[in-house]
Amino acid sequence: MIRYSRYLMPTTKETPSDAEVVSHRLMLRAGLLRKVASGIYNYMPAGLRVLRKVERILREEMDGAGALEVLMPSVVPSELWKESGRWDAYGKELLRFKDRADREFCLGPTHEEVVTDLVRREVRSYRQLPLTLYQIQDKFRDEIRPRFGLMRGREFFMKDAYSFDADDEGAAGSYRKMYEAYCRIFRRMGLDFRAVEADTGTIGGSSSHEFMVIADSGEDAIVSCGSCSYGANVEKAECLPFSAPGSGATKGEPRKVATPGKRTIEEVSAFLAIDPATLIKTLLFETSVGDVAVLVSGVHEVNEIKVKNHLGAEYVRLAGEERVRQVTGAPSGFAGPVGLSVRTIADHSVRSIASGATGANEKDFHLVDVVPGRDFVPEAYADLRVVREGDPCPRCGGTLRFSRGIEVGHVFRLGTKYSEAMRAVYLDEGGKERVTVMGCYGIGVGRTAAAAIEQNHDGDGIVWPISIAPFEVAVIPVNVKQADVLAAAERVAADLDARGVEVFFDDREERPGIKFKDADLTGIPVRITLGEKNVAAGFGEIRDRKTGETLRIPLAELANEAFALVEKKKAECAP
Ligand code: ATP
Ligand code: MG
Repeated sequence: MIRYSRYLMPTTKETPSDAEVVSHRLMLRAGLLRKVASGIYNYMPAGLRVLRKVERILREEMDGAGALEVLMPSVVPSELWKESGRWDAYGKELLRFKDRADREFCLGPTHEEVVTDLVRREVRSYRQLPLTLYQIQDKFRDEIRPRFGLMRGREFFMKDAYSFDADDEGAAGSYRKMYEAYCRIFRRMGLDFRAVEADTGTIGGSSSHEFMVIADSGEDAIVSCGSCSYGANVEKAECLPFSAPGSGATKGEPRKVATPGKRTIEEVSAFLAIDPATLIKTLLFETSVGDVAVLVSGVHEVNEIKVKNHLGAEYVRLAGEERVRQVTGAPSGFAGPVGLSVRTIADHSVRSIASGATGANEKDFHLVDVVPGRDFVPEAYADLRVVREGDPCPRCGGTLRFSRGIEVGHVFRLGTKYSEAMRAVYLDEGGKERVTVMGCYGIGVGRTAAAAIEQNHDGDGIVWPISIAPFEVAVIPVNVKQADVLAAAERVAADLDARGVEVFFDDREERPGIKFKDADLTGIPVRITLGEKNVAAGFGEIRDRKTGETLRIPLAELANEAFALVEKKKAECAP
């Protein structure tokens, strides 16, 4: 049992001015966290208890899924990062430094290199596979904009796991196990989450999921289907071709019309009095594989990540004014695919335009009666646009909705990217050397705790899910100077403590209002209050922090009732 008078949980009334999101504010106000430098914190005793609880759930589920815990160093020699090629590729987020002998090191932001080195030394045979290793360890990332407290820190704890398999099929199995463990983890923390498909860049396939805690303050936009379990990052969300290809066979030749000074979709469609959905927007990109024009309907936006993946390009970026003039012969706003002599790809939305309008590649002119497939033929029709709210679900045809989420976890099939580069090989049954197939799986410990607050708070403070609350029951003798009150409080606290309940005993000589406010602020799920009148009449009160429901219970039953409420809340956090 913890006694507040001997504890360090410095609560404050003031709202810290640099805290933009509620979880950051409440962690500071509840005395869980103190800043040392930008993105670098002291975890105060109660804050650390929360992190330890998150970690305990992580350990139990990782162990349950057959992963083995290891601990790798924070300080990593540059040689390993040079082997993977990331020493050069990673940029400024990687904090680099030298030791006294001028050897280069970094503080590990993630540990693919270190773990691959470990495994290539220890694993020789197919008999040792599959193998999944995990750790819970301090990471350092020199984020450009550390903010939101533990949500985006520079030094933070991460649970990172890495799987090694003999082949793709095995790797898919390891991935599935981790995916399932993640679902159990976030359910046990009582969180409302979605696993969404995430972009995998050049690795491709649907082999990456982000675990998103749904919260308005989330930095990520996600789409999810109202009818099935489909969810995706907005960057990744697939768009179906939404209607049949248009048939414009009966229209005449494209006609050139003057559109003086009209460049934007709004201006052109208003000026020509046409539906903006029939405008063929033409955007020029400079990419690692050369100039490419991308076409999309006037009511849609180009998704650069889809363009990049479609082209298999290293980079794509919108061409500047200069380049647009060189390639199209007109200022931007007047580009169009007819007669354009550059590689052209089109979004599906363009195919269903029966007859549209587009730039004439000449200043102050557009073309109308343009028929895709007749007047221009793109190299390919593909899904190149950004999803819109209300679009059909690519899995079931239901309706897609937007929401915001906090990425708390990430599972990723790495393939052989690291094992190939670093030669993590094994001998198969036939004695033939093969490269292991990897996966990596991360969960931010502090970010998850912060996300739990974003989802569980009210005007008075935090409302912890019991599985990650710093304490389970707060016992408050309203006035510790009254012997009967104090004795009754000590009894119920000791009783619960003996049953293994985590009790926080507020034995301070403070005004009742302050004690109640602090109990609400710190979000302890169950509160037992012992006041003078009630105790004299043989009663005490139990209050549910979440519902606010208060019960007046005979003193003899107080511990039993509180225990039952704790058990009920624990059951609500079942996997
Ligand atoms: P983000 O896009 O938010 O920067 P990321 O893609 O860089 O995240 P990963 O490299 O997949 O994140 O890291 C795994 C997990 O580590 C994340 O899901 C998140 O929970 C946590 N995490 C990543 N960066 C931070 C950070 N700066 N502070 C706290 N937790 C973090
Ligand atoms: Mg990041």
